[in-house]
Amino acid sequence: MADEKIAKIPYSLNSKAVADATKFWLNKRGVTLEEIAELVMFLQQKYYPNLTMDECIHNVEMVLSKREVQNAVLTGIQLDVMAEEGKLFSPLQDMIENDEGLYGVDEILAFSIVNVYGSIGFTNYGYVDKLKPGVLKRLNDKSTGQIHTYLDDIVGAVAAAASSRIAHRKQAEREIELDLPHTPEDREEAARKLAEYDGTPE
Ligand code: MG
Repeated sequence: MADEKIAKIPYSLNSKAVADATKFWLNKRGVTLEEIAELVMFLQQKYYPNLTMDECIHNVEMVLSKREVQNAVLTGIQLDVMAEEGKLFSPLQDMIENDEGLYGVDEILAFSIVNVYGSIGFTNYGYVDKLKPGVLKRLNDKSTGQIHTYLDDIVGAVAAAASSRIAHRKQAEREIELDLPHTPEDREEAARKLAEYDGTPE
């Protein structure tokens, strides 16, 4: 009877639980925000020489605060963990376990992250996916016994999306600084910036 009562409670999404789980699982799978931010720095330093690690970390946090990003992170990590535990059905188990070259669903899932800040993220994603710097090299090390078939793409995609976010923000900052006509893309963010802006160029 008690079980029946619980089952009748309508489902309601707990956004804090989703956000907390995302941080927890990234951490549990050995990925830090700093490592993702290092990828962002790697991607963006040549365009913005004054870019700081704090800015990179902030942009990674902003990307990770998006619900669709959290959904992708949790789904991908769940599949990696289940593959590690041998719990998937065959042949999916073998494909994910062996990071099968013709299995591209990990990349498709990552595209939902890349898309969050516009299509310029695709170039950045392709670039880090090819070079596999920093944390991506570690996640691709198949000798550890861990399976990161999804996580490597997810981490690269979060870094790529954070890079796109920086590019969009820097363009907006430049326009405001030079007093050029500026139409904000993100009205909420623009309102916050305007409230903070005291007219002094950086
Ligand atoms: Mg992969």
